Amino acid sequence: MSYRAEYIWIDGTTPTARLRSKTRILSDWDKLPLWGFDGSSTGQAEGHASDRVLQPVFSCPDPIRGGDNLLVLCEVLNTDMTPHESNSRARLSPVAGQFAEQEPLFGIEQEYTLFKGARPLGFPEGGYPAPQGGYYCGVGAEEIFGREIVEKHLEHCLAAGLGISGINAEVMPGQWEFQVGPLSPLDVADQLWIARWLLHRTAEQFGVRVSLDAKPVSGDWNGAGAHTNFSTKAMREGYDPIITACEALGAEGKPLEHVSSYGVGIENRLTGLHETAPWDEYSYGVSDRGASVRIPWQVEIDKKGYIEDRRPNANVDPYEVTRLITDTCCAALERAFQA
Ligand code: ADP
Ligand code: MN
Ligand code: MN
Ligand code: MN
Repeated sequence: MSYRAEYIWIDGTTPTARLRSKTRILSDWDKLPLWGFDGSSTGQAEGHASDRVLQPVFSCPDPIRGGDNLLVLCEVLNTDMTPHESNSRARLSPVAGQFAEQEPLFGIEQEYTLFKGARPLGFPEGGYPAPQGGYYCGVGAEEIFGREIVEKHLEHCLAAGLGISGINAEVMPGQWEFQVGPLSPLDVADQLWIARWLLHRTAEQFGVRVSLDAKPVSGDWNGAGAHTNFSTKAMREGYDPIITACEALGAEGKPLEHVSSYGVGIENRLTGLHETAPWDEYSYGVSDRGASVRIPWQVEIDKKGYIEDRRPNANVDPYEVTRLITDTCCAALERAFQA
């Protein structure tokens, strides 16, 4: 018996990479083999030496095709088997390994906007819908646009066995969110990329486009983020480590280092309005949705838990944000709490 393996990879499009995939027919006694592709068509090679290598790193059931078929997430390698420069997963792996003993966990809230043609779902032709207010977690045809796509995507994620933890309608019409995690740095990022692929693939069947643009509509409309929730074992057990992590993210040079890898267009989204902090001013606070980093109220009461970095854009590379937060916070926690 043969099955279909959908090999999925992240391309070299700048400034924001896109997803690509192609199908390979495999026999069920095969292991998932290395495969190749034309890197000159994906921004990952020149035409005269165009071959790039796909190395499977994560696979799960394919909920679109069903049966024994698989989705296969791949890293992109050069033909000498070194990671291609676009391969940010290869840069996360050693950092995740270095701090694995601290057991870092991430939950990422992926916001996105559904578009039909040039307009978000729910935006009338040649005008604007009623201002923001009733759409967030709303119900009814006046408030909600695209729920059939969102529900289908959720079904697909669950059937694929992804660690999806919830969905909700967002503050602008046609804008939605799903959350992945809590999972380890590599797992949350791999599964978020697969969940994004499934979202594009599901919406495609409805003739709808998914935008991860950070500011899909200019003016008095919320942007789209990827709030990144983070904890280590020590943070899940006590409050001092929570504060250490918040301080570490604000240490000299860190805010700019982080924000410059938190997705293109961040200065258009982190303006200080619409539940954001200005991109060039770092702050943290309890329950504060106008801070860069929020300590949830329950965490302050329990004196343990996790923190939420509210800065990452919807278009962030999850390998980048998890690498930066793990590196910054785990190194500081190691200095503060280990002799
Ligand atoms: P918000 O109130 O900001 O909208 P959400 O419910 O959308 O919050 O998302 C919270 C996220 O935090 C979820 O993805 C959840 O998995 C994650 N999370 C919960 N506990 C932890 C933890 N200890 N470490 C890391 N992430 C966590
Ligand atoms: Mn949320
Ligand atoms: Mn949200
Ligand atoms: Mn949030």
